[in-house]
Amino acid sequence: MTSKLLEKIIKENLTCLIIPHQSPDGDCLGSSYALSHFLDLKGCKNTIAMNGQIPTNFSFLQKDNMRNDFQILESDVHYDVTIVLDTSSTDRIGASMEVVGLGHEILVIDHHKTNTYYGDENVVASVSSVGELLYSLFLPYLETFNQEIAKGLYTSIVTDTGDFRYSNTSAQTLKIVSYLFETGIDFYDINRKIFSNQPLNQVLLKSKVLSNIQSYDNQKIIVTYVTQDLLDEHNCQMFHADGIVEMGRDIENCEVSVLLKEYESNLIKVSMRSNAYVDVSEISLLFDGGGHSRAAGCTLNTDLKEAEKIIVDQIRTRL
Ligand code: 5GP
Ligand code: MN
Repeated sequence: MTSKLLEKIIKENLTCLIIPHQSPDGDCLGSSYALSHFLDLKGCKNTIAMNGQIPTNFSFLQKDNMRNDFQILESDVHYDVTIVLDTSSTDRIGASMEVVGLGHEILVIDHHKTNTYYGDENVVASVSSVGELLYSLFLPYLETFNQEIAKGLYTSIVTDTGDFRYSNTSAQTLKIVSYLFETGIDFYDINRKIFSNQPLNQVLLKSKVLSNIQSYDNQKIIVTYVTQDLLDEHNCQMFHADGIVEMGRDIENCEVSVLLKEYESNLIKVSMRSNAYVDVSEISLLFDGGGHSRAAGCTLNTDLKEAEKIIVDQIRTRL
């Protein structure tokens, strides 16, 4: 995998603005962190536009060049290129379009099959994670990877492959991880930070959300929801619900697991995961969302009950 724009960035020491997607996850945070360290190493000034809050389990990926929209727009730094990571369409970008437009050219690096090719250059490949994609983009320019780059790439890969359990894990994915281990990163410490050390209130929230599971069609469809009231009750934020939709998918006989996240009474974010044959990205696309065959999402402007009905009906036609 190559990128003409990345080559130009390195050759001409261009200044870059790195943008992960909204509601940041391990893939976009890990790849932003790795890319930023890579650009530092190549002497290219860069800023990470961090609008949403970093979930606490990823706080080890904080970097001192992270800025919010306001700080970026207020400063007089000139950006040559905006690099958007892990973001299939412009509505998922985690910064305002005003910020995105600060770069003269846009480089999109992504692995979603629903990518809309909105950049001046689009490096889109069907691999496990943006981390895996960045590994091959960095390769021609690095003799060895340092531990900071390896830490970011590992985080990106281990989260988007569900600890190497998902079908997007390939022999090449594991070869890359093997190489990253050789840099001496403390992968056990990283795993503990990402997957363990959960606050008790988060575990209690999960237990409550799981206790509300509805199952349809002999457990082929599993649905549950998180409301603002449940978050308040458990002193949690929405990112504390990460991982619940995957737990639904692990139930015997389940083909599609759905988590409905109520941001407002008529603003429901739908997260879907499938196991074997339902392409949930197709369902998401019907509602202007996107994603992968086995993991996708969209937003519905209805109440929870109606959202559940709409999504269950769509899944049923595909069982
Ligand atoms: P999650 O359920 O974890 O929020 O997202 C699962 C996958 O679907 C991710 O790869 C994410 O980028 C994608 N996705 C989730 N919601 C949306 C959406 O509203 N629009 C698009 N284009 N992709 C989404
Ligand atoms: Mn990803």
